[in-house]
Amino acid sequence: MLLKLLIALIVIVVIYRWFGGRISFIDRKELSDAEQDFGQIQATSACANCGTYITEDDAIIYQRKAYCSQSCLNAAKKH
Ligand SMILES: [Zn+2]
Repeated sequence: MLLKLLIALIVIVVIYRWFGGRISFIDRKELSDAEQDFGQIQATSACANCGTYITEDDAIIYQRKAYCSQSCLNAAKKH
């Protein structure tokens, strides 16, 4: 009787751990998605002159600052 109770307890622990492993796997996946979103935010930067958000492909980088267009870069140079 006690042995059956012990086996039942082991089965419950195994099932609990199996579910626990699956839940933590899902949490890790959500974390990696959030990290990807953060990476996309970093790829966009605001224009140092007018504040317009531009992707780094479109940005003109001058003295470590991003500008949306040549006219914004020229306006920033005048200051
Ligand atoms: Zn601008």
